[in-house]
Amino acid sequence: MAEILVLVDHADGVVRKPTLELLTLARRLGEPSAVFLGPGADTATEVLGRYGAHKVYVVDAPEVDAYLVTPAVDALTQIAEHTSPAAILLPSGPDDKETAARVALRLGSGLVTDAVDVTAGPDGPVTEQSAFAATHQVTAHVTQGVPVITVKPNATAPEPAPTVPVVEKQDIAFSPPSATVRILSRAARERGDRPVLTEADIVVSGGRGVNGAENFALIERVADALGAAVGASRAAVDAGWYPHSHQVGQTGTQVSPQLYLAAGISGAIQHRAGMQTSKTIVAVNKDADAPIFELADYGVVGDLFQVLPQLVAEIEQRR
Ligand code: FAD
Repeated sequence: MAEILVLVDHADGVVRKPTLELLTLARRLGEPSAVFLGPGADTATEVLGRYGAHKVYVVDAPEVDAYLVTPAVDALTQIAEHTSPAAILLPSGPDDKETAARVALRLGSGLVTDAVDVTAGPDGPVTEQSAFAATHQVTAHVTQGVPVITVKPNATAPEPAPTVPVVEKQDIAFSPPSATVRILSRAARERGDRPVLTEADIVVSGGRGVNGAENFALIERVADALGAAVGASRAAVDAGWYPHSHQVGQTGTQVSPQLYLAAGISGAIQHRAGMQTSKTIVAVNKDADAPIFELADYGVVGDLFQVLPQLVAEIEQRR
């Protein structure tokens, strides 16, 4: 069966959910092999096997943690050259998209970024992308070389398919370090118990209608009741009510959760560009003509300060 390389996204061996999604998608195309860079492969191997990785290629070299992007490009390219995979899948983070582009260039292959779905087609993987501020859905397939595809989080639900992977350590000939940017230190970003915005199954976002930083506590209450991440429109971020790292949209983060709840957000095209691929969209807005209702699956016309507390009470009652 065709081998599909999946670049593992992890923190010290703890595998992040988008990788499990990629392994699930890779099984539609062939037999997944995980490419694990850095220390922690012992911790990761069991979970990679649980989600169907038949092989785990491990590159545990000091270069991986010392330099930006290039070591990953060297590793993926060289592993691809000796395994001849049918496709290479990566998560759609900024570093991984750069890695993907450089790997595609080195392999002379076609590249698809930000896919929201991948299926098997007669001529190789077929991808779905959301383009032009999510106003168009694009179906594509790569016509040259090994398809290199980055996939947005939440493209599919991770499904286990347990197997016991073969672990193969890989020696990589890294490019000269002088050509790259050296990492001098790392600091973990502080975050609470809420899920990461890009990976969350549910996102609850507030906009200008929230009317103040202190009122974002209500958005957080709804988020916590649902186990969701908190998002914000640019208007709310520009007003200083919530950090920019939570901005959803064209110039913020792009999310694609199972459920997106927009409260006090009008639905400007730049906001839609960051959330329109959400599976189910719920809007709460006091203006019945707000554009957000054009794309909402469910809409409540009302004051969010009346609607959201009732929503929290209802969720808590059903627990
Ligand atoms: P508004 O458009 O002011 O809407 C507020 C809504 O709240 C209204 O619909 C109102 O009816 C409703 N409301 C008010 N009070 C209540 C209440 N009590 N209960 C219920 N509803 C209420 N925007 C982004 O979000 N993300 C981006 O990444 C982004 N990038 C941009 C990039 C560029 C180049 C440009 C030009 C703009 C960008 N914008 C972005 C800005 C975007 O155009 C809008 O200005 C912004 O999204 C509006 O935010 P909003 O919906 O919160 O505010």
